[in-house]
Amino acid sequence: MSDERAPTVLNPTQERTLEMLRRFPTPVVFDPDVIASLTSDLADAIDHLGERVLAAGDETVWLSKARISSVLGCEYHHLNPAPFDWTPALAAGTVAHRAIELLVGWRGEPIPATLVAEAIERLIDAPGNIGDWLAQMTEADRADLVNAAVDRVVKFTESFPPLDKRFIPVAESSLRWPESGPIVLAGKTDLTLGRAENGEARKVIIDLKTGGMWPNHLDDLRFYALLETMRVGIPPRKVAGFYLDVGRAVVEDVTIDTLRSAAHRTLDALGRAVELIEGREPERRPQASCRWCPHSTECEPGTAWLAEQAERDD
Ligand code: SF4
Repeated sequence: MSDERAPTVLNPTQERTLEMLRRFPTPVVFDPDVIASLTSDLADAIDHLGERVLAAGDETVWLSKARISSVLGCEYHHLNPAPFDWTPALAAGTVAHRAIELLVGWRGEPIPATLVAEAIERLIDAPGNIGDWLAQMTEADRADLVNAAVDRVVKFTESFPPLDKRFIPVAESSLRWPESGPIVLAGKTDLTLGRAENGEARKVIIDLKTGGMWPNHLDDLRFYALLETMRVGIPPRKVAGFYLDVGRAVVEDVTIDTLRSAAHRTLDALGRAVELIEGREPERRPQASCRWCPHSTECEPGTAWLAEQAERDD
C-alpha cells in the first residue's frame, strides 16, 4: 500500500486478520532434504505420466485446482461439462478479483466503485472471452455486476488491514510447474503476503471466497502450497481461505504432511486424467454436482441419487 494513505484505525475484523497473518518469533524452516525428496518423487511420477500422455497421442494435460476436483468427482461430467455462459453473478467474481489486484498497487484512497469500473475496462481490453461479454452486456447486467463486484471489494477492504508494502502483497500471481513437458500443473493465487527469505518459510497464500465453505477449498490451497514449493524450493508457511461474507479466515499451517497429501491427491487426479486420455470409459459418480449437471435427466446413477436425496430431504 502507498504511503499516501492516511493511517488507519483497524476494525475488529481487520485486527483479527492481522493476527492470523502475524509471524511467530520462531522461524519456520523446512528440512531441505525432505523437500528435495518430495520434489524428486513428484517429478519422477509426472515424468512417467507424461510418457503415457505422449504415447496416447495427446500433447498436453493441463491441471488446475478446478480440474483436479472435477476429475476426482464425476468423470463423465468432467469430460462432458455444461456449456459455459457468462452471467453477471459469474463475471462479478472475476471483476472483483481484478479490482482487488488493482487495489494492491493503488496509490491514494482506493474507492471500490472506481476500482471496479477500472477493472471492467481492463478486462474488456485484455484478450479473453469475458472481455467480449463485458463489452456487450446490457445496462441491467452491468448494474447487477457492478453491485456484486463492489460488494466484494468493500468486504475485502473491511476484512483486511491496508496492505502495507512491507507485507509484500501480490494479487493474482500465476503458478506453473513443471517448466516443460506434456503435463502442466497451474494456478493463480488470489493474494499472497510475504516471501521466502534466508531459507525461512514466510509466504502466506490466501484464497478469497464468497459463499460458504466447501471441503475442497482446503485441498485447493494445499495444491497451491505444493506448486509454490515446487517452484521456489521453500514452502509457504500458511494457507488461508478467507470467507468475505462472514469476514472470517480458515487457516492451515503448511507442513510436510499437508504437502504430501496435496502431492498424493494431485497424482491421483493426474492418473485418472491420463487413463481417460488412454481411452478408459469415464465413471459416473453421483454427488452434489448432479443437482446442476446437464446430464441428470438421462443419467441413471444421477437420477437415482437425486431421488434418494429428495426422499431424505422430505
Ligand atoms: S448426473 Fe451426476 S452421476 Fe450423472 S453424469 Fe451428472 S454428475 Fe455424473
